[in-house]
Amino acid sequence: MRDWLSHRVRSSPGALALVAAPTGREWTYAELDAAVDRTAGQLAALGVTADDHVGVLMETRPAFVRLVFACQRLGATLVPLNARLAPSELMAQRATADLIALVCEAETEPDALTTAETVPVVSVDKPQSPQVAWLPDEPVEDVTLAEWDTDDTMALMFTSGTTGTPKAVRLTPGNFYAAATASAFRLGLDEADAWLDPLSMYHMGGLSVPLRATLYGTTTVLTNGFEAERVFEALHEYEPTGVSLVPTMLRRLLQQGDLPDSLRFALVGGAPTPRGLAADAVDRGVPIHVSYGMTEATSQITTATPPEVDEDNGTVGRPLFGVDVTIVDDDGDPVADGESGRIVVDGPTVTPGYYENPEANADAFTDYGFVTGDVGYFEDGRLSVLNRRSDRIVSGGENVEPGEVVSVLRRHDGVADAAVVGIADPEWGERVAALVVPAEGREPTREELRAHCDANLAGFKRPRTIAFADSVPRTASGTVDRTAVRESLARAADL
Ligand code: ATP
Ligand code: MG
Repeated sequence: MRDWLSHRVRSSPGALALVAAPTGREWTYAELDAAVDRTAGQLAALGVTADDHVGVLMETRPAFVRLVFACQRLGATLVPLNARLAPSELMAQRATADLIALVCEAETEPDALTTAETVPVVSVDKPQSPQVAWLPDEPVEDVTLAEWDTDDTMALMFTSGTTGTPKAVRLTPGNFYAAATASAFRLGLDEADAWLDPLSMYHMGGLSVPLRATLYGTTTVLTNGFEAERVFEALHEYEPTGVSLVPTMLRRLLQQGDLPDSLRFALVGGAPTPRGLAADAVDRGVPIHVSYGMTEATSQITTATPPEVDEDNGTVGRPLFGVDVTIVDDDGDPVADGESGRIVVDGPTVTPGYYENPEANADAFTDYGFVTGDVGYFEDGRLSVLNRRSDRIVSGGENVEPGEVVSVLRRHDGVADAAVVGIADPEWGERVAALVVPAEGREPTREELRAHCDANLAGFKRPRTIAFADSVPRTASGTVDRTAVRESLARAADL
């Protein structure tokens, strides 16, 4: 295959490819194709050729989309870097990824310069520093379209670094293609679809949208990042049929008001969706599709439809078509339905491997599949994600998945939210401790909660420490901030 845009422009040149919500500027596929040709020509003039690694350090905007397809056109590997990282973190990623050039924008130019060292820096905006070259929107030379094999490295994407240093994930055209078809089989597809993408394109969820739209021939609406009021307005003004969100974004949009009826799907993932939020979304008619995904699986692995979320709002749904998900114990043997264990995935959306990282590859790729690092269980064919494997509490030699304890606590009607962590214990190694947010107007007592846990959990899983708080501390992505939870619990113990 050649780059997807060059195929797309022959099938539907007049279809709307891209809308920039802040300005209302629009590009048909023919116009986007011409713009990408100019970007590709500029990159080629700088010496970028097939198989080179091109770093991109910018927030989501149309110029980013052009770079994605310009790299594909040249046969170069796209390497999006997280524009919010500190220069030292960026330097590590730049070195890992063997960049030939680093493309930045006005806002990221200073960081790009400190990060790049010997790598040339190019800006899509007029550069401020003489050391930075300019990538103007002008034609320079004719570009020969590169040919791709399905297993070439189309992009290196860094994981978020929740469990350690971010890892560079190799993603192939075959991965993205399989992810796009599997997603469409679950979400449905309509010629008139427009998908609003407020996510950062240096994360998988954000990058997936324009790639999929180009394969489908549908429209991407960009808001250049997430600002609740602006995204809310864009949803009402452009009436897209789909939107990708992380749970905190959904919460903040719902605070603004109701979402438009035009939406066929709101894909929510990247972190656990709190039950109260999922229930609120269902009540308010949001077509919420709770999704479990990761960089290594080119985004979605499982996705729950609104009726599934309504029925059991702790589930992340069934695996997408072609994606195998199994739950295994620590020896790699499958466990029974309903039992928790390691989540393993396999299939055409799974990366061929981390880039030049033999240790990580040896840990993750086993003869029973790719080990995600997450723990969960299946019930009636639907997956629930409990927590990360690394969050597991080992108390007196017994394994406790904090997610299981949280599920039990949340079933108590006096509990709105909860977080469970292990805290050091001289006798047991670790002790189960729970931070509980009481439901509105309720003041559950420790005794009441203990009785509830006694009835529903094995002895070693019951929280030995229970403290109350107004909210569970979470990180920007919505994941429980376990360090802050431990601090809250320690403070509560002092009182
Ligand atoms: P690193 O791999 O560097 O530690 P990361 O795993 O956070 O970082 P990503 O690939 O961005 O990097 O995130 C994928 C992870 O996000 C999954 O492995 C899972 O732990 C979590 N996740 C995604 N969606 C959900 C969901 N719906 N429910 C619970 N967890 C989710
Ligand atoms: Mg991960």
